[in-house]
Amino acid sequence: MTLIFRDDAYIRSCSAAVTAIDERGIRLDSTVFYPMGGGQPGDTGVLRGGNGDIAIVDTIKGVAPDEVIHVPASGVPLPAIGETVTAEIDWERRYRLMRMHTCLHLLCAVVPGAVTGGQISDGKARLDFDVPGAALDKEEITAKLNALIVADHAVTPRWITDAELAEHPELVRTMTVKPPSGQGRVRLLDIGGIDLQPCGGTHVRRTGEIGTVAVAKIENKGKQNRRVNIVFAP
Ligand SMILES: [Zn+2]
Repeated sequence: MTLIFRDDAYIRSCSAAVTAIDERGIRLDSTVFYPMGGGQPGDTGVLRGGNGDIAIVDTIKGVAPDEVIHVPASGVPLPAIGETVTAEIDWERRYRLMRMHTCLHLLCAVVPGAVTGGQISDGKARLDFDVPGAALDKEEITAKLNALIVADHAVTPRWITDAELAEHPELVRTMTVKPPSGQGRVRLLDIGGIDLQPCGGTHVRRTGEIGTVAVAKIENKGKQNRRVNIVFAP
């Protein structure tokens, strides 16, 4: 299966052949649909086939590496194996997720401490940080984030080998989620000089595309765990 979003997150649709269908959903030979993972929700959208549109309500990972399962709305007529469909994501939603996801990389650079968890949803996102004794300031973090956004830094994915990653364990910011290894290579997300870490998600090309954001609230989640909640500025 060719994962088009991995090389270009801006491609909204592709032509693909249906390779398998089971109770979990529909597999294609290539796709623009991002499957839920790394804190980012799965894409929604539509598969346009000969028998009409098939609404896709979620996208999840399968068991095999790079296996993507498109979850159809219940009760819709399914395509035939081998049929060619046009796979098209809900771009407006995906683009908001890409902007918010990229913003979380900036948040990693702004807040000291290891990341212990996180979640992205449509229009908002949060990261949990292990920050012993530190008081985090909402206004200060908001100002630092927006400065990095306005500076319009380039956001560039690149690949390194498992061995290179093993030599640089400091690249892994998340304590709970280790990057997938064993496939020989790891995808790094590089925001020039600001943040560099393994990430398989979808991102915007420049930080300026994120738009103005704000820290909505900072919650205490345990003695030294702080949850920073980000929203798009109204
Ligand atoms: Zn990322």
